[in-house]
Amino acid sequence: MLKGRLALVTGSTSGIGLGIARALAQQGANLVLNGFGDADQIEALRRSLQAEFGVEVGHDGADLTRVDQIEAMVARAQGERGGIDILVNNAGIQFVSPIESFPVERWDAVIALNLSAVFHTVRCALPGMKARGWGRIINIASAHGLVASAEKVAYVAAKHGVVGITKVVALETARTAITCNAICPGWVLTPLVQKQIEARAASGGISEADARTGLLSEKQPSLEFVTPEQIGDLSVFLCSESAQQVRGASWSIDGGWTAQ
Ligand code: NAD
Repeated sequence: MLKGRLALVTGSTSGIGLGIARALAQQGANLVLNGFGDADQIEALRRSLQAEFGVEVGHDGADLTRVDQIEAMVARAQGERGGIDILVNNAGIQFVSPIESFPVERWDAVIALNLSAVFHTVRCALPGMKARGWGRIINIASAHGLVASAEKVAYVAAKHGVVGITKVVALETARTAITCNAICPGWVLTPLVQKQIEARAASGGISEADARTGLLSEKQPSLEFVTPEQIGDLSVFLCSESAQQVRGASWSIDGGWTAQ
């Protein structure tokens, strides 16, 4: 379905981004991976995706908190690979603290990566999509793009902002074959959430298993984690022609979290 398309998935060396990259490659899309990690492991990942799906896979290690590096990454994709057809803004970080003690540098970092980077990648990639007459922009927001939790001020602000950016871009592209949508996952068991489970276990003096159950039962009525594969499949749908009129949506995949 996506043969010959080029997909840039930010933060795809781990977790949800990797799940989305795999799902898009399975449909024939060539990939630019992005994200941090051990260079040998990233190279092994790049080769294994290439071999498994028979697509071209590159890796761009741009630090998306840096505007110059975002601009250079999009320019490289344009110059070397013909331009980005599918942009998935997935890279993100979390920091948990009450607002009074929330470190200012953590606020700046979360806003730079989880919010400003989305503005910059879209700003830079959209002209190429318009020139080629087709595009898909998928922003990985969160249930926290729709509702709040205590002690996550930067994350919740950034994710609400991503939902806002998504709507604006959808309106600005409404009469084109480019769509822009957000996906709003609930809990997904990735390194980002594993850290929160460990912190919860340590502060409560409980086992990791109990911390995991506690985390789910507080927010996610299904009591089951969403998987990166499920988010990958939803991304594939949003890239399909059937989704041509899905525009500006904030699509929940959260085990019922935001239905409450
Ligand atoms: P993760 O920690 O497993 O992966 C994050 C990815 O971002 C990694 O590839 C990492 O290298 C990359 N990254 C970090 N800083 C970067 C930077 N400065 N520049 C470029 N890449 C950088 O996290 P995840 O749980 O897979 O989260 C992915 C996205 O999904 C995030 O936007 C997160 O907010 C969102 N999300 C996660 C959950 C969840 O429960 N895990 C729920 C809702 C939304």
